[in-house]
Amino acid sequence: MTQTPIPHSSNGFAAFNPGAPLKPFNYHLPELKPFEILVEISHCGLCHTDLYMIDNSWKRSTYPLVPGHEIVGKVIKLGTLATKEINDRVGIGWIHSACFHCPECASHQTNICLNKTPTYSQGRYGGFATHIIADSRFSFSVPANLDSAHAAPLLCAGSTVYAPLARYKMKHVAIIGIGGLGHLAIQFAKALGCEVSALSHSPSKKQDAFQLGSDHFYTFQNPPKTLSFDFILCTVDADLNWDQTLTFLKPNGRLCFVSRPPNGIHFDPMNLVSTQRTICGSNNASIQEMEDMLAFAAANNIRPWIEEMPLSEINQAIDKLKKNEAHYRIVLKI
Ligand SMILES: [Zn+2]
Ligand SMILES: [Zn+2]
Repeated sequence: MTQTPIPHSSNGFAAFNPGAPLKPFNYHLPELKPFEILVEISHCGLCHTDLYMIDNSWKRSTYPLVPGHEIVGKVIKLGTLATKEINDRVGIGWIHSACFHCPECASHQTNICLNKTPTYSQGRYGGFATHIIADSRFSFSVPANLDSAHAAPLLCAGSTVYAPLARYKMKHVAIIGIGGLGHLAIQFAKALGCEVSALSHSPSKKQDAFQLGSDHFYTFQNPPKTLSFDFILCTVDADLNWDQTLTFLKPNGRLCFVSRPPNGIHFDPMNLVSTQRTICGSNNASIQEMEDMLAFAAANNIRPWIEEMPLSEINQAIDKLKKNEAHYRIVLKI
């Protein structure tokens, strides 16, 4: 087994102010805590959340900010209680760690632990870098038949859409938005046995929707019938006509958000009351859901559509994502 030299610092790209272009940034790697591992990164996906964090849109970014939370790499150093092995290929997503003693953690819902911490910001640096310190309990073994570039977007985009689809097990499912999340949601829903409809603003997405496995394609100008779906997964940060969207749901149907429309959602409560519809949200994935998702993607040949770019072109990659020109996920090669 080859021994990888252990560095004492990491070379990444950081925003030094809100909204600033990323610049090279070298930073010290502290000693590992018991459950931690040091990972040599090979690939990292670029997610919309990274753009919000760079811009401090959610008022919780700390600078210098090294973004990146769809990370794949190789374990090169272990903390004393680490649950991985040297040379393991692991994936790391949005959640750095959780408390492991609250009621949510005790019921294996680590993704909604109130004490969970993000992979970067608040004293940690993310995946647009050569190395990262991760919690081994939130680092996931990548199945052998999933190559690292395709595994990366599964760690956030994939888990975010897989978890609610697998949790609610609905039959007639609509996915709003065919982008970084939506193009994976269509594939997962189809492989989970759902009848899948894709809903987009853009008629030009029709061919992609069918290629990804959709059974039906609708636009908001040419919408589905009322009472069509058991479940609608909203993957877009866009303001829609929410009353119209709710009428697409059958009685007891569920509208689930994994996105954040910029101006909140406004609707007539009667569209919930009269048919007992539900509006809910889903946050990334628990440890178990993450492991299940990776195994399910590997077994069912679910792969993100990716464009690879070198990390040195991170600012061009960010521009491309901002212009919605990514088709559908950019993966940085470190
Ligand atoms: Zn993300
Ligand atoms: Zn907890």
